[in-house]
Amino acid sequence: ARVLLVGSGGREHAVAWKLSQSPDVGEIFVAPGNAGTARLARNIDIRPTDIEGLVRAAKELRVDFYLATMDDPQPLGLVDRLKAEGVLCYGPVADAARIEASKAWAKAFMERHGIPTARGRSFSSFDEAAAWVESLPEQRLWVKASGLAAGKGAVGAANREEAIAILRSMLIDRAFGEAGSTVVVEEELTGFETSAHAFCDGKTAVLWPFATDYKRALDGAQGLNTGGMGAYAPTRGIDERLAGIIHERVIAPVLRGMAAEGHPFVGTLFPGLMVRDGDVRVIEYNARSGDPETQVHMLRLKSDLFAVTKAAAEGRLHEVAVEWADEPAVCVVLVPGGYPGKYETGHPIEGLDRVDPDVFVFHGGTKLVDGKVVTSGGRALTVAARGRTIREARERVYDNVRRIHFKDMHYRTDIALEAVGG
Ligand code: ATP
Repeated sequence: ARVLLVGSGGREHAVAWKLSQSPDVGEIFVAPGNAGTARLARNIDIRPTDIEGLVRAAKELRVDFYLATMDDPQPLGLVDRLKAEGVLCYGPVADAARIEASKAWAKAFMERHGIPTARGRSFSSFDEAAAWVESLPEQRLWVKASGLAAGKGAVGAANREEAIAILRSMLIDRAFGEAGSTVVVEEELTGFETSAHAFCDGKTAVLWPFATDYKRALDGAQGLNTGGMGAYAPTRGIDERLAGIIHERVIAPVLRGMAAEGHPFVGTLFPGLMVRDGDVRVIEYNARSGDPETQVHMLRLKSDLFAVTKAAAEGRLHEVAVEWADEPAVCVVLVPGGYPGKYETGHPIEGLDRVDPDVFVFHGGTKLVDGKVVTSGGRALTVAARGRTIREARERVYDNVRRIHFKDMHYRTDIALEAVGG
């Protein structure tokens, strides 16, 4: 097969790497890709939101399979368009992708299908939103831009007054542009946060093992929220019972509901969850896999990713076995100092040639300039490895991280530390 990926993160590099091992995958194209994907695949210089350009390139390059990994293209109809051209797609059509692209739609969908989530409401009018907030008892609230806001559109409010100030910034001052022209206001959930991933074929879902990711920029969960600074899998503390509840109450109703509404969900479903006393509530649904969780999952997936996602795209996920390695995996993301705020790019990356052969360096914000790899974005590299134990995987990763260098390089030193008990 000739496969198209869209995106330029460590996630896309890891997926390209995994696909490249399939005997049934011929050429892989990544739009726009990065310096890492350039070594396994052909990068094509098209933006992820340029649907016309992507469809045209897919036709020209005779792409016959699209595997959706990043959020942007699906709500814009990339899967719908490619399917119309005869390309087999593992990823949701635009109507199904609304579960991630519109928090207001997702909230209403959850309500229609009895999926447990925080109590809340959607608004486009500031006056109505403020009046509703005023009518609530004093409490902590979350105000969220309904549209895609690169993971920055959810704001916590300590009380009603703060919530109203956030509503004003989103609905009147348009702090998040169009993405914030509709907002969801909801009660705060408490407990511990986790997430799940599942392969979905429109009717059935197969849960992946659980991973733990690290969102904050600095050690000890300090600093700003980022796209993700590291991850490990499998997570400890999620037992079979809880996994069963997540499948039954969070994943299966999405498949039933989407099918009943006429747009079956095909692709990876990735809900963010709050767990308390063994009970689960949905914070949000993503309609693709996480970055950097994907990097550790790809290291542990034993099955052929192409075979699994192709089967899912054809609605016959039940026919394939999805197997994972017993060995845990850990990954650490290297970023320029200052990320996710202001940071510099364009710095050469040294030491990539000194990394052990069983350690993987997945590229994110990198590009090739005159044959040299330089930083070009926030999450520049993900260093990932497996080990017999989490401790071993973790030590292998950090030992190799220390061989890599670029100006102002920063990384968290506590990824997976809790899982080694020290
Ligand atoms: P991302 O896609 O990066 O996860 P987002 O902008 O899509 O972020 P959410 O996932 O809805 O927004 O929220 C981001 C984070 O805010 C959550 O991971 C959680 O920590 C916190 N959060 C959101 N809603 C709630 C809530 N109701 N109660 C408690 N925490 C919440």
